[in-house]
Amino acid sequence: MEDESDISPGPLPHHPVENPAGDKVIVLVGLMGAGKSTVGRRLAARLGVNFLDADSEIESAAGMTIHEIFEKHGEPAFRRGETKVIKRLLQDMRKGNPAGGVLATGGGAYMNAEIRDNIARYGVSVWLRADIDLLVRRVGRRNNRPLLKQGDTRETLLRLRDERYPVYALADIVVDSADAPHEEVVDMIVEKIAEFFGKPAAVSEAPSAEYISHIVPVALAERAYDIHVGAGLLHQAGDLIAPLLRRNRVAIVTDENVAAHHLARLTGVLEQAGIAQVHLIIKPGEHSKNFNQLEAVLDWMIEQKIERGDLLLAFGGGVIGDLTGFAAAILRRGVDFAQIPTTLLAQVDSSVGGKTGINSRFGKNLIGAFHQPRLVIADVTLLDSLPVRELLAGYAEIVKYALIGDAAFMDWLEHSGAGVRDGDQAARIHAVRTSCMAKAALVVKDERESGPRALLNLGHTFGHALEAETGYSERLLHGEGVAIGMCLAFELAVRLGLAPAQDAMRVAWHLSVMGLPTAIRDIPGASLDPDHLLAHMAQDKKVADGRINFILPRRIGDCFITGEIDPDMVLQVLRASAD
Ligand code: NAD
Repeated sequence: MEDESDISPGPLPHHPVENPAGDKVIVLVGLMGAGKSTVGRRLAARLGVNFLDADSEIESAAGMTIHEIFEKHGEPAFRRGETKVIKRLLQDMRKGNPAGGVLATGGGAYMNAEIRDNIARYGVSVWLRADIDLLVRRVGRRNNRPLLKQGDTRETLLRLRDERYPVYALADIVVDSADAPHEEVVDMIVEKIAEFFGKPAAVSEAPSAEYISHIVPVALAERAYDIHVGAGLLHQAGDLIAPLLRRNRVAIVTDENVAAHHLARLTGVLEQAGIAQVHLIIKPGEHSKNFNQLEAVLDWMIEQKIERGDLLLAFGGGVIGDLTGFAAAILRRGVDFAQIPTTLLAQVDSSVGGKTGINSRFGKNLIGAFHQPRLVIADVTLLDSLPVRELLAGYAEIVKYALIGDAAFMDWLEHSGAGVRDGDQAARIHAVRTSCMAKAALVVKDERESGPRALLNLGHTFGHALEAETGYSERLLHGEGVAIGMCLAFELAVRLGLAPAQDAMRVAWHLSVMGLPTAIRDIPGASLDPDHLLAHMAQDKKVADGRINFILPRRIGDCFITGEIDPDMVLQVLRASAD
């Protein structure tokens, strides 16, 4: 039982009060040691309803302890059983006599989207939020929990807190499980449940932004900045931007699609914060990353009298970020800019790291500058309006971070990728945050890409050639090119005997299960000529001394940079993927 802390039971109150949740099951969620079982029992007694502990029910259903289930069958099997048992308990309690009740769940249960859906259907969720010091004190003394078997308790709890608090924050009600007497915690829960059912409008305010936003610092000395990742952050844009302004005015560059969905909200938020704005709306799409559009943007900025101390705001996907960032880099020899990325690709990749630029007729991003933003605000709720094809294109870049340096993240993606795709905000926050942390770490080590930052180009040498060969058209999005490119990089490494074939299969399988293309033949339209693709690769800016630089895997989570690849070998891989 994950939550049996060392809290002594004490006397139970004798006079039940009316249960404000009615037949809805009150489900307690939170980390181990938060007091779910102890508080839950008292709460049930207070309300005169039944109490059940999901972990105890799982143990009796399995005929062994949770610890034994973990040891014998592993965590995934435990989670599957847990999902079934919790659903059954919720249904039974809802129909029970008295109907409803209090259910304490294990710390990991609420992380599962299916369990959350069931809780939302049959009950009301209450997060018992606790301070880490309190948890360490409570669980440290009686450590029979499978997840604490290895490693330092505090470190494990801190890791669990970072993973789980953004998800727990989705609960309907949040109550602080302080060192207060349990009856006081019970009082607070009863009060908040009554409030919750009495004022349904309060529901939308439940996940407090404080707990579902994170800051990823990009520690680049005098060019350092923060990436804010969270749900609903657009509402804080004014407060976040204001400290960067010398005069209360910003110039926004966006595209038609983003403007249609979100511009009014952004301008409203800025207005509320007392920040005046002007905006330029350009045509969406890769073709806007060209000299003509750059000139138009620069002319507009000059007309708008944008000065050195002013702030430009790139509000859009990678095209808007790259174009606006480059304009900011060269206007008056450099003005500040901030990014509010609105595509998944821009949130996890292009808005971070300061690469800006436009395309030339000779290739992508051949003209550009390093110019770091002053601030990045990644609000995952902006992705709700993004077409799924665009979302998946960004997902490819997320997989890239797992492949270049984080095998455990790949496990998580295999498990939770569908949630990222299908709108699970907590999963999106975790994916964006983990990706930004990975990118920030490489950018800090190597801002101008003279070394390890080049790992971020996994799949890109192939991908750029595919994009060029398809004319930067709707036929192939950048991220789709990267997805195919990553598969080609793995294929090449397998052929060279550098990486295991099963890793290449695993990568292709995951990308294709998610809905991404994995081979050249998956690109719609006329088949592409491998010789032309190779010629494009030789033109790519990642060519050094006439040799094409490749990022190749040793395995999932471990890649390296090499310029020593025989072009014939590359051609063979391209042909196999195109046939
Ligand atoms: P994009 O900017 O063209 O956006 C894709 C499409 O989605 C566009 O039609 C856009 O109008 C629309 N859109 C954007 N946000 C939306 C929203 N919230 N709701 C509905 N529609 C929305 O493309 P992208 O994939 O974001 O970026 C691709 C570009 O990024 C490429 O040019 C690539 O070279 C560049 N890039 C740059 C870096 C870098 O480090 N600077 C890294 C990776 C990619």
